[in-house]
Amino acid sequence: MTVLTRFGMALFLIIASLQVYGADHHASTKAFKSIPLSGSVVLLRGKGGNIALIKGEQGLVMVDADYKEMSAALEDVLEGDGGVKNVTYLINTHWHGDHTQGNELVGHHAQIVAHDNVRTRLLTRQEIKLFGMVSEPYPEHALPSLTYSKKLSLFINGESFDIVHFPNGHTDGDSVVFMKESNIVHMGDNFFSGMFPFVDVANGGDVMQMADNVAAVLARIDDDTTVIPGHGTLSDKLGLAEFHEMLVGTTDEVKAMMTAGMTVEQMQSEGLSLDWEDWANGLISADAWIAIIASSLKAS
Ligand SMILES: [Zn+2]
Repeated sequence: MTVLTRFGMALFLIIASLQVYGADHHASTKAFKSIPLSGSVVLLRGKGGNIALIKGEQGLVMVDADYKEMSAALEDVLEGDGGVKNVTYLINTHWHGDHTQGNELVGHHAQIVAHDNVRTRLLTRQEIKLFGMVSEPYPEHALPSLTYSKKLSLFINGESFDIVHFPNGHTDGDSVVFMKESNIVHMGDNFFSGMFPFVDVANGGDVMQMADNVAAVLARIDDDTTVIPGHGTLSDKLGLAEFHEMLVGTTDEVKAMMTAGMTVEQMQSEGLSLDWEDWANGLISADAWIAIIASSLKAS
């Protein structure tokens, strides 16, 4: 079988698994589920990436902003806290639309903070070819207005935020947001809780680097830290450690099969070991995950 056909098959499997994701979410109503965390922090779970909302007298701070179609629901949920005009800072963990399309609503009022590469990407047309997704350039007010390269500190509402860039994990512009006083960390898409993640290899992501990034975060947090994943349910250090173990374990298995000369199709029919069975029940199937790891290993 030709390389092209094998690649086509891998693409098909990834797209098929994403369509399941889309179907699931269309069935849900457009409302956020609010989950109070410690201190003045609330987790908002909508359709796209998880949002952290931090309240206080100096105004609201948000981490991520979900899809545009969730913006009306976002306005509703912010109403009790002074409304969307009360948002002072919006931090984007990366450029993907399920985390940044809400910029268009929030950016009329808030400063949008992100890694340098997020602004660069949102200035121009972006694509995730694997999913056939296109992102048109964002209007000026929806672009990050405050960008950084390695680390940015923000002090507001009695909370110290460390916004830290971890290179080439999920994309080339990922931020992890540490909230020191509340002992909460928002991982962005460097963490999909309890499921295989999407890694945007075509836009600077790398599976092995993601594992290194997760290890670096694990070294900074403790057993009491609340860990917000980009996608999936609220977690903790143990949940993040299990995710790290899965990243390393599955990458080792795919690497061994590649070294043995197997094609992506052959690896998919061989499958991963049963240890990782439960991780396939989320957004990305085992076959899609094998294809992502293989493409990441080939690219690096
Ligand atoms: Zn993402």
